[in-house]
Amino acid sequence: MRVVATIAALQAARRARGAGDTGFVPTMGALHEGHLALVRRARAENSRAWVSIFVNPAQFNDPGDLQRYPRPLEADLEILRAAGTDLVFLPHEQDVYPDGYRYRVAENDLSLKFCGARRPGHFDGVLTVVLKLLLLTRPQRAYFGEKDFQQLRLVDGMVRAFFLDTEIIPCAVMREPDGLAMSSRNRLLTREERARAPAFHRLLARSVAERQSTDAVAADLEQEGFTVEYIEDHDGRRLAAVRLGTVRLIDNVVGAAGRDSAPAPE
Ligand code: AMP
Repeated sequence: MRVVATIAALQAARRARGAGDTGFVPTMGALHEGHLALVRRARAENSRAWVSIFVNPAQFNDPGDLQRYPRPLEADLEILRAAGTDLVFLPHEQDVYPDGYRYRVAENDLSLKFCGARRPGHFDGVLTVVLKLLLLTRPQRAYFGEKDFQQLRLVDGMVRAFFLDTEIIPCAVMREPDGLAMSSRNRLLTREERARAPAFHRLLARSVAERQSTDAVAADLEQEGFTVEYIEDHDGRRLAAVRLGTVRLIDNVVGAAGRDSAPAPE
């Protein structure tokens, strides 16, 4: 596994890589099985799997959240090596933003809703870094998790809007055995919060199965000790964000009667 830390070295690796497809998985590290499912798929469907680890300051609107974000780099590299990753890109912030983030991608509709309404500028930061990473790595396929459903939709829209030659591959949400969506932030939960956390997915899934309103499930979640940021039906899914103590959790389930389109089977 090659570990590449500079833009120039990454560009050289890209020019030298020869025939065959590249599958790319952008991450912020603190890797878990959810990330690994993407990496394994990238490997299986391409000649090589490239992964980036970059905790992108431009997508954090809360400095405390950025500072608390876990960064277990050595463990991450070990996990990626074991998964058969061909190249890991670990860029430095000043190299990714040589312009100090003066130039950025802005989306003007979906990015302002749901998570975007609570995290001003978040999705512009996401789209900007994803565009840079796709231009640097030029993969045939890039893998994104449905856990971050709004992000997936926005990235897919950007790739179409700018005619990028990369196919965006959606990957199903990976969950713990108790239903909690795997997330790097789960490791920030206290033991007591971790014990409560599975109720988030359980109540969300039940609300869809029982055709409960978003207001009703919000009340049930508050009852269980969650602070609800939003619960909204969109694109055949029920999307939600809650807080448990200082930790923000997001999830979504298929089957909500979204205003925009018919429910899709999982
Ligand atoms: P992150 O490191 O949080 O930026 O995530 C990197 C990629 O992994 C994104 O495409 C996420 O949607 C995806 N991902 C994170 N958690 C999961 C999960 N539980 N299931 C599937 N994909 C995930």
